[in-house]
Amino acid sequence: MDPIKLSKEIHNDIINWRRELHKIPGTGLDIEETYNFVCNELTKMNIEFITLSKTGICALINGENPGPTIAIRADMDGLPIKEETGLKFASNNNCMHACGHDAHTSMLLGTAKILSKYKSILKGNVKLIFQPAEEISAGAEPMIAEGVLDNPKVDRVLGLHIGGFFPEVKAGMIGVRTGYTTSAVDKLSVTINGKGGHGALPHLCVDPISIGAEMISALQRIVSREINPLHPVVITIGSIEGGSTWNIIPESVHFQGTIRTIFPEDRELVEKRVIEICNGIASTNGASADVVYDKICPSVNNNSEVTKSFMKSALKIVGEENLVYLKEPTMVSEDMAYYLQNVPGTFFFLGSNNPKKGIIYPHHHPKFDVDEDVLWIGPAIFVQAVLDYNSNL
Ligand SMILES: [Zn+2]
Ligand SMILES: [Zn+2]
Repeated sequence: MDPIKLSKEIHNDIINWRRELHKIPGTGLDIEETYNFVCNELTKMNIEFITLSKTGICALINGENPGPTIAIRADMDGLPIKEETGLKFASNNNCMHACGHDAHTSMLLGTAKILSKYKSILKGNVKLIFQPAEEISAGAEPMIAEGVLDNPKVDRVLGLHIGGFFPEVKAGMIGVRTGYTTSAVDKLSVTINGKGGHGALPHLCVDPISIGAEMISALQRIVSREINPLHPVVITIGSIEGGSTWNIIPESVHFQGTIRTIFPEDRELVEKRVIEICNGIASTNGASADVVYDKICPSVNNNSEVTKSFMKSALKIVGEENLVYLKEPTMVSEDMAYYLQNVPGTFFFLGSNNPKKGIIYPHHHPKFDVDEDVLWIGPAIFVQAVLDYNSNL
């Protein structure tokens, strides 16, 4: 069984699936057309599946020999972006596959198509997880809660992201690292309740704008003064709303932002200190603050043993010159993290930016695209990883 040959043989199918999926994106859990498309293709392949979390799909390929269960996960959702690629197969749906999840879904279908024909040599099972709502971090957690990692119990999980998150991972290259690979993401929302009045009479008011300014500056001191300087932490306040005109002190101010951390202990510390600082500054100034700290998604943490064996499999597919060990994590986040909290596994990156073809736009850009020439690589690596896991039993 030659995964490179088998995957190249179905490269056209993978491209066609990707194009069909690209035309019909949805967002969040509302990806019915995508869901129907995948169900239909799995049915054609005679692969059994169940539906979880409204539009999530858990398919199972039962090997004919006893063994463990390896899960491979692809996310399927798009983004609320109006597409500007000008592609013949551009989205019809007022939202867009601007992160490459159409490619993830088509590569997992390719993996399914190959493996479904080799049940007689497979040891154990391959579980195919087609997940909605990654972009809003609302797909992995509910699928896990509904049992996607049970029955049969998953022993190992793999997943990939296509695109250009790491400039050194060029088209057709694989980037991977052990340990923390993406950041955790949290959302902060603060309302400062002061006392409004005449801008000339501040002593009769409690000014939420000056209090808000103090809070926003103080939050940055968590990063510069309280965190180990060798640990990455980002606090970005992305929006402030308050006041109506130049000579009135408003009643309240609202601001919100995102907090990114790599290490769980930093995440706990930042959450605690953000709440203390916002409440403390509000109360010392005679105001009150409603502080809402939403923990959205943890860091992707790649298991060292699984990642090392994965790298040996990837090496067989792309060769040493195309396998990049990532020196640093990225501060973007991925809800693949939830599977990796439950099961040892690896999340890796497949480069698909290609300046020669004008494929240069970043993720979540209305002109984002992927180089389809690399799409055979995903299934080839997944199939190789399954075979290698089987042969090491
Ligand atoms: Zn994205
Ligand atoms: Zn993505």
